[in-house]
Amino acid sequence: MSELLLTGIGRLITNAGDPITDAAVMMVDGEISYAGTASDAPDQGGGDRIDCEGRAVIPGFVDAHTHVVFAGDRADEFGLKMQGASYAQIAKHGGGILSTVAATRAAGEEALFQEAATRVRRMIASGTTTIEIKSGYGLDLDTELALLSVARKLGHDLPVTVKTTFLGAHALPVEYRDDRKGYLDLVVEEMLPAAAPLADYCDVFVEEGAFSVDEARRVFEAAAGLGLGARVHAEQLSHSGGAALAARIGAVSADHLDHATANDARLLAESGVVAVLVPGASYTLRSPQAPGPMLLDQGVTVALATDCNPGTSYLESMGLVVSLAVVEMGLSAEQAIQAATRGGALALQMPDHGFLVQGSAADLVIIVAPSAVHIPYRPGTNLVWRTIKAGRVVAGAWH
Ligand SMILES: [Zn+2]
Repeated sequence: MSELLLTGIGRLITNAGDPITDAAVMMVDGEISYAGTASDAPDQGGGDRIDCEGRAVIPGFVDAHTHVVFAGDRADEFGLKMQGASYAQIAKHGGGILSTVAATRAAGEEALFQEAATRVRRMIASGTTTIEIKSGYGLDLDTELALLSVARKLGHDLPVTVKTTFLGAHALPVEYRDDRKGYLDLVVEEMLPAAAPLADYCDVFVEEGAFSVDEARRVFEAAAGLGLGARVHAEQLSHSGGAALAARIGAVSADHLDHATANDARLLAESGVVAVLVPGASYTLRSPQAPGPMLLDQGVTVALATDCNPGTSYLESMGLVVSLAVVEMGLSAEQAIQAATRGGALALQMPDHGFLVQGSAADLVIIVAPSAVHIPYRPGTNLVWRTIKAGRVVAGAWH
């Protein structure tokens, strides 16, 4: 039996009621056995103990949308974008998703794993305890399978829970430039059946220049037949109908939503689709933020994620995402932290994660500050003092 007791917590966010001051948390065998006031805490046996000395504790971050397995970078493209180059101009210069596809196809599985593991270790040190990882930089059968295998291996070898998503319909690969139907046939008839054992979900980038609503519907129907739930890249660069599609097919999440309307929000709320918002992408693209406050007002469950990818959101820190959600998108600090923890867990269908009550997963973060408001208030500083995954300290800083 493994036991860990946290004492001296200045302020505890449980996501299941008001914050608790002067709190304690007891963890036994990877689960929370007590989270409440220190005065009511049970007597501890012979397990480990950490005195938090007034620091705040929140649930571990759940990063519900990433493309963290890739090779190469797009720093040159970033420079062009900051000088005002358009997406189309960048594509003409050989940039965009397809340049990452070329680098990823050439990299090999071992190099892909090592590069991604370095990023994921930094994410864990920044307080992330669960992460969703998409394929989509292979766009051929072998590389798509390699990306999903690497994602699964990250969850196996590192102290983080990983959920995987097949995103074969991310972009049209160069070799199919004049044969959209041929590529979709490949995705549906060959890639999906081969990827299904390695994937929890299927995703499609619904956007002008990527895939249409009708094309996406075909992919999602095939995925549903293989038992894969749907996630949709929806309404990112324009209003393309991805959110309404997500609602109609009962998708698990609709992601991005920068151009979502009040009607989209109503549809998402009615059908229980979680909105996964990625303010880092809007920040990097200098495009409008998703209407987070409106989505919450309409009763949509909102999650926050990094969208970590080398083109439009090379962010690893959920703390920075929380800050962007507060400062740029207009969520309150409490809403943003809840969305980055409990919201993410709901977006990944993990009902026993993202909150701290008896019986929930012992995934949490000790913050080097007296309250969690310091996370949005002090952007760019990693305020994580200890990351605890399944009741074990897995990362820590010495400040
Ligand atoms: Zn994405």
